Amino acid sequence: MTGTPRPCVSCKNGSLEPFLDAGEAPVQVGVLWASREAARGCPRGKLQLAFCRSCGLVYNVAFDPARVDYSLRYDNALHFSEVFRRYENQLAERLVARHLAERTAGPAHVMELGCGSGHFLGLLCQRADARGIGFDPSHVPAQLDPVARGRVEIQREPFSERAIGQPADLLCFRHVLEHISEPRPFLATVRRVLEASPDGVVYCEVPNGLLALRQLSIWDVIYEHCSYFVCGSLERLFEAAGFEVIDVREDYGGQFVSLEARVSRGPARERADSAGLEQLAADVAAYAEHFERVREDWRGRLADLRGRRQRVALWGAGAKAVGFCALLGKDADSVATVIDVNPGKQGTFLAGSGHEIRPPQSLRDAPVDTVIVLNPLYEQEIRADLGAMGLSSEVLTVA
Ligand SMILES: [Zn+2]
Repeated sequence: MTGTPRPCVSCKNGSLEPFLDAGEAPVQVGVLWASREAARGCPRGKLQLAFCRSCGLVYNVAFDPARVDYSLRYDNALHFSEVFRRYENQLAERLVARHLAERTAGPAHVMELGCGSGHFLGLLCQRADARGIGFDPSHVPAQLDPVARGRVEIQREPFSERAIGQPADLLCFRHVLEHISEPRPFLATVRRVLEASPDGVVYCEVPNGLLALRQLSIWDVIYEHCSYFVCGSLERLFEAAGFEVIDVREDYGGQFVSLEARVSRGPARERADSAGLEQLAADVAAYAEHFERVREDWRGRLADLRGRRQRVALWGAGAKAVGFCALLGKDADSVATVIDVNPGKQGTFLAGSGHEIRPPQSLRDAPVDTVIVLNPLYEQEIRADLGAMGLSSEVLTVA
């Protein structure tokens, strides 16, 4: 597709060149809607992806931050899954061992931006015997996680310059940066907070953009994520913002990119790893065609299931489910039911498609022929849950 390039929001010299118009999708995937009508009538926004050849950022140039309201009833908690819980526990252990365990001067301070119920912040503070401060406008005090009680204080406001001056030996934000339309000023504030804590470390985790771009998990393209990062582009952004990157890696089965950094005291490093950037540019050049092929393939599969009068369930009412239904449009109507293990989502309705979200046990009374699993990491867990209920539905896993 063609479109006017605009200056990159991540690096100083690059420009964002549009390469994919993916239509429209609900502006908020995590909002819990109280009725089918409200869910179907939810606000939608355009998906227009663009690429910066200088730093590797992929960005939705149609994104308008004013359309996303994080104070709506929101639930992105994943820790009802055993697989995810194990990952979070190991991550908390790793961060405490690397950055907090050897502190001797008084209690450590941990800050988390976008902390939700305070679950992960509480885990860190419990393990490090630290004090926690969280920022999250969507936090509901009555839903404070038990592990955070007595250890963590949560400000129900967005992270801003008001946090400057508060101690932060470890400052975390997980699945936050990809929602921020102007990442450079945001990181400048993070840097100013960390400057007050000598040896303070920032931990950032984002979805791995390669999932959408290279593994063609096209359902990972959602409106709320304006930025799609890979290891290299995330590292370049932090270095440009005045950080020294001490670790960057793919994690959670390659689904996340995580980065640890501290405030850089010297001039920015010159980087020469153009190979990763060239490969990414090739992925981007082929993407529009691949995107349509994957979409047509799933349209065909759903039409086939419909033709054979098969009852279909989608398992997992998260961002991928909203993306799957939004990108498949009317064809997603052949999904009979959407299942989620999170009790907070059950009885609410999926943004866009308006499917009611039901607990796994509902399949006992209304069995399905086919279960579509949207995240391969949960396939074993889901097969075990189906087996425990004595159900023999066929499982189709979306790569
Ligand atoms: Zn750039």
